[in-house]
Amino acid sequence: MSIFANNFPVGAWQRNFTPFEEDAAQRSWLMPYLFVRGKNPGPKITCIAAIHGDELNGVRMLHELAAFLENHSADINGSLCFVPVANLMGYANHSRYLPDRRDLNRMSTGLKDGSEGARLAHFLWQNFIAEADSIVDVHSGSYNRWNFPHLRGNMKDDTMRAWAKHLENQVVLTSAGVAGSLRKEAGKIGKRVFLFEAGETGRFEKNILQMGFIALLRLLVSLEAVNPQLLADCLLTQNHPPKTNKHPTGYYRKAIWQRATHAGLFIPEVEPGDAVVAGQRLGFITDLFGERRAEILSEQTGFVLGMHLHPQVVPGRALFHIAYEFKEL
Ligand SMILES: [Zn+2]
Repeated sequence: MSIFANNFPVGAWQRNFTPFEEDAAQRSWLMPYLFVRGKNPGPKITCIAAIHGDELNGVRMLHELAAFLENHSADINGSLCFVPVANLMGYANHSRYLPDRRDLNRMSTGLKDGSEGARLAHFLWQNFIAEADSIVDVHSGSYNRWNFPHLRGNMKDDTMRAWAKHLENQVVLTSAGVAGSLRKEAGKIGKRVFLFEAGETGRFEKNILQMGFIALLRLLVSLEAVNPQLLADCLLTQNHPPKTNKHPTGYYRKAIWQRATHAGLFIPEVEPGDAVVAGQRLGFITDLFGERRAEILSEQTGFVLGMHLHPQVVPGRALFHIAYEFKEL
């Protein structure tokens, strides 16, 4: 049954578990969720984290967002549902994947009597996604990669473009997602889906969590789920405001991965969040004597969205994710 069909009292935050199947010791898996019905009418929004079980920044961001909003329940419109750990099995194993080695974010909309992963995808879909108007899905850079906090959504969609005009100081990359991903499948049936990327797996960084918190709050304001004054107050009262990202309103139409051309040790000279120009040196690769083997020159004028962190690289390893073709809205 959809979580939005519950008769929870207005303004009272729910912190509950809902059971899903069992592990090999016949213990029920328990899916945690936080839910609040606002005082005022408004959209139904589900925010999901850790659909990749080792991407934990979103878990903490949703916790902090709930703790903050709990003190401002009168400013919430519609219904908010947070699912902090969508991939319970991956989370338990410190793994991106499910125990059957599949990717939960390639299995939407799931299958009731399908494989382990298909059943979990079906459970998520039926309980939290099907009835929501908008979905927010929080990720982190995987496999030694670090992502500058940014949103991904399908800007080919007119509603999305109109919506994005109101979103200030946020880096947006247009992208429709791959088959079976939450973003693609929910987008197909007309839901607005926002993928939010921030930081890396297995590590909490204060600045990233703060930037993520503000970005998610900004998104909820933009979706008219939270009164705008709350964001303004929040920005004013933060003792240590996060690095401000004075990004113009608009979105990047394309992004490429620049890859290692040689094996060796990777020395970056820019970082995620930097603007770069075509031809600019982004970093270099040294050999085992410390001699420079290759330089990585930016193929585009754009913005560094993501970067490989581990120094050891081999040919083909994705080093820099560069967003380009900026379009103002
Ligand atoms: Zn992910």
